[in-house]
Amino acid sequence: MTDSPSSGEVASPEEVLAALHHELTARAEALRSGATVPSGGISFGKRVGEGTSIAIERFTDVAIHGQLLQQLTLVDEALARIAEGTYGQCTVCHRQIMAERLEVVPWAATCVACA
Ligand SMILES: [Zn+2]
Repeated sequence: MTDSPSSGEVASPEEVLAALHHELTARAEALRSGATVPSGGISFGKRVGEGTSIAIERFTDVAIHGQLLQQLTLVDEALARIAEGTYGQCTVCHRQIMAERLEVVPWAATCVACA
């Protein structure tokens, strides 16, 4: 009897990162198209509460969009490191990044000590 991992297939970092790239791009695009919805029909002034909630939603969308793009940059950089053959190496001290860290943060560019 061989003890097999609970999940049959183990995705390579490249597969995980490529999937992330796909998802982040799709989400950023969805947000972008949502942000361009014309704001006609929204009347401010009567109820302050409504206007405030709309403003907060907009702000959150912009913040999320920024985070998505930031994340996308990290993912793309990790994919570039895979192509270069330096993936899994800390970009600061050049030591090997712990596998546990890469499992949780596949786009990690630095080891825990340099993070
Ligand atoms: Zn380091």
